[in-house]
Amino acid sequence: MAVEPFDTVDLIRVKRDGGTLSTAQIDWLIDAYTRGYVADEQMSAMTMAIFLNGMQRDEIRDLTLAMTASGQRLDFSALSKKTTDKHSTGGVGDKITLPLAPLVASFGVAVPQLSGRGLGHTGGTLDKLESIPGWRASLSNAEFMAQLEEVGAVVCAAGSGLAPADGKLYALRDITGTVEAIPLIASSIMSKKIAEGTAALVLDVKFGSGAFLQDPARGRELAETMVQLGKDAGVATRALLTNMNVPLGLAIGNANEVRESVDVLAGGGPSDVVALTVALAREMLELAGIHDADVEGALKNGRAMDSWRAMISAQGGDPDAALPIPHETHVVRAERSGVLVAQHALPFGIAAWRLGAGRARQQDPVQHGAGIDLHAKPGDAIVEGQPLFTLGTDEPDRFARALEALDGAYRIGDAGDPIDDGGPLIAGRIG
Ligand code: URA
Repeated sequence: MAVEPFDTVDLIRVKRDGGTLSTAQIDWLIDAYTRGYVADEQMSAMTMAIFLNGMQRDEIRDLTLAMTASGQRLDFSALSKKTTDKHSTGGVGDKITLPLAPLVASFGVAVPQLSGRGLGHTGGTLDKLESIPGWRASLSNAEFMAQLEEVGAVVCAAGSGLAPADGKLYALRDITGTVEAIPLIASSIMSKKIAEGTAALVLDVKFGSGAFLQDPARGRELAETMVQLGKDAGVATRALLTNMNVPLGLAIGNANEVRESVDVLAGGGPSDVVALTVALAREMLELAGIHDADVEGALKNGRAMDSWRAMISAQGGDPDAALPIPHETHVVRAERSGVLVAQHALPFGIAAWRLGAGRARQQDPVQHGAGIDLHAKPGDAIVEGQPLFTLGTDEPDRFARALEALDGAYRIGDAGDPIDDGGPLIAGRIG
């Protein structure tokens, strides 16, 4: 049996006492954890030490590259198109990938979106797309490459071969209270994106009540860390820092988010979803060398919609099929007239999840029709008795717990009261 070059406990003590690990130590730790030599309880202690004491920039880079090296790396050099991808740190009502990928692809760029399923209150892109009859998330490597070449946009499930160390580590962090550490979030996201092989990457880093990190300063630190990691690995990387204090758009769920995305692709849709889609598309296209693209025009003239239809059809979906609707609905009405001054993202995310739109365990199914449709946004004038939002589920027993989550989640004030929405949608740009 080969002799291991380090002692796991020594490395844990280094991080426990606020020290710095070397490249060789980090490479070994990740490799030894992936092959099962380092035990979960030891890695739990290590992640908690990192959570409490942080990591130096060089350690974060080493950790990211070690996780990237734990599995396969995709190679797009045979494609005739440039590749550009986007990653969001996740939020409530965040369906932006759905209109964004076909919109960017309609300019002749390839968008290889390897996505995940939702866990907890933030939804998963694959769950949303699976509400389209016939659509399938799993593609072989050959299908993936052919669709990138022919259609340009692909949204599909990431295989377990990409950064397997992250898969193992993320599951451990999820059950040990160590998800919200910047070095761990940054290395987790960037190891997968670097392994995916995209040439350019735009990050949508969210802050606010519905995001991983509530504080904008911590969001900025995460964005700066990830942009630097991308650049160090040769990926042209940029980030937008965006506000997730209020749900994005009017739909929170799965099928209803697809419907809203199709509205955006048809030139309509809520203004915040359109604004963020357009801003991210511009950044992605710029990194791919396309400047001054008429992005809004592509939403209005059907070009992005054609690209969406091709993307859905290529994966077996019927873009014209009726989408699922919930079996039962419950409308919440305004108890007074005034102005909607608050609508907090997190409770709406939790309520949609409790209605069945999300899952508590990775293996659970989701209800594609379940979710929440908002009928007003902060700043809107409200008349007593008007519908504020509609809850939908296939199991009416779920309404009570969803309504419990929404207690105090919104407020109707008077004209002139400050709007509690955390400020502008796009708060900064990094990189
Ligand atoms: N998404 C990831 O992939 N990893 C994290 O750690 C957090 C969000």
